[in-house]
Amino acid sequence: MAGLNRDRMLTDLAKRKLQIEFKLDTSPYEGVVAIGVGAFGTVCEAIDQRTDARVAIKKIVHASATSTLARRTLREVYVLRHIHHDNLVILLDMFQNRGSLGTDVYLVMELMEGNLDYVIRSNQIMDNNLIAFFLYQILRGLRYLHKAGIAHRDLKPSNLLVNSDCHLRIGDFGMAKLSQIDEFNEEVEEHSFYMTQQIATLPYRAPELLFSIPEHSMNVDIWATGCIFAEMVLRHELFAGHNVSSQIKILVMNMGTPSVRFKEMITSRETRWLLEDIGSMEARQWNDILEHQATPEAQNLIELMVQLNPWERVNAEMALNHPYLRNVKRHDDEKICPFKVKMDMAAVDNMSHEELIETLSSELSSFV
Ligand code: AMP
Repeated sequence: MAGLNRDRMLTDLAKRKLQIEFKLDTSPYEGVVAIGVGAFGTVCEAIDQRTDARVAIKKIVHASATSTLARRTLREVYVLRHIHHDNLVILLDMFQNRGSLGTDVYLVMELMEGNLDYVIRSNQIMDNNLIAFFLYQILRGLRYLHKAGIAHRDLKPSNLLVNSDCHLRIGDFGMAKLSQIDEFNEEVEEHSFYMTQQIATLPYRAPELLFSIPEHSMNVDIWATGCIFAEMVLRHELFAGHNVSSQIKILVMNMGTPSVRFKEMITSRETRWLLEDIGSMEARQWNDILEHQATPEAQNLIELMVQLNPWERVNAEMALNHPYLRNVKRHDDEKICPFKVKMDMAAVDNMSHEELIETLSSELSSFV
């Protein structure tokens, strides 16, 4: 009994902490439990007291403090507001509170039960049907997103939310961006930001980001998806580096020395030196890389996705037509991606800090 009282008291305290941290007292939401921490915010489970529905609330701290943070938040808001698809997370509500450094933004989303990272690291048996079903849903979500010209740019198992019925939705659109980039300088600024902030996602980082090649497109997501696919087969990360240079070494040692065309596109002197240091390497056999765990069809699709040269990778549509997915594919009722998100995302890239704050604020107040 004493144990039960103690547990209840601790649960109440944890809820109180959430209520204070998320400043939910003036909102219709009651915090239940903290469920995740991302690069830019924390996520809690909460109850919408008007409907009793359980939701997930993501708090983005200091969302307007710098142009980069405001731009990042606005991109996430735009994607979530305008994109509606079975395999992308659903935004239910948004609100803001004054924080210690400007505005904190709160995104209320449909609550999912877990993420693919938990599944991969659990004892759950992952047979080919389950892996194919998860892969199919990731690719469906990506095909829709890519039709709008948007790259997610931060796909990893913990951003792939799943329910116990195996339904998967892609989440965390904070790094999402239109792939056509006009301003090279801004891309460089964002690129170094990406390199320093996103260390946790190194194992899924495409070679063009890793080797500093300015030309990024939607197929950074195909690389990441191929790595996640291989991780579901292996039950551990495919290329697990600890920093940028060890990640580069691992890639070269497995995939061989990059092509001349690829090397000519590398802008960073340090990366060129590092490649010289590593010397010439032959590509390993995929069968060995995948520890003889993949079926021939699975291996073939992984090979088509995890290509060092971005221009040689398959796109989401081609991957969806691969025979590996034949048993899980449904008749497609694919929705057309709204054009509005494209225009909005393009505008974000040229806004000043003041314009970003103003637009963010009007987006938040216009949400119904
Ligand atoms: P994020 O900052 O969006 O990457 O979220 C951090 C973590 O919170 C994720 O890895 C998920 O485990 C969890 N999370 C995010 N959104 C949801 C959601 N809608 N439902 C359940 N868990 C979520």
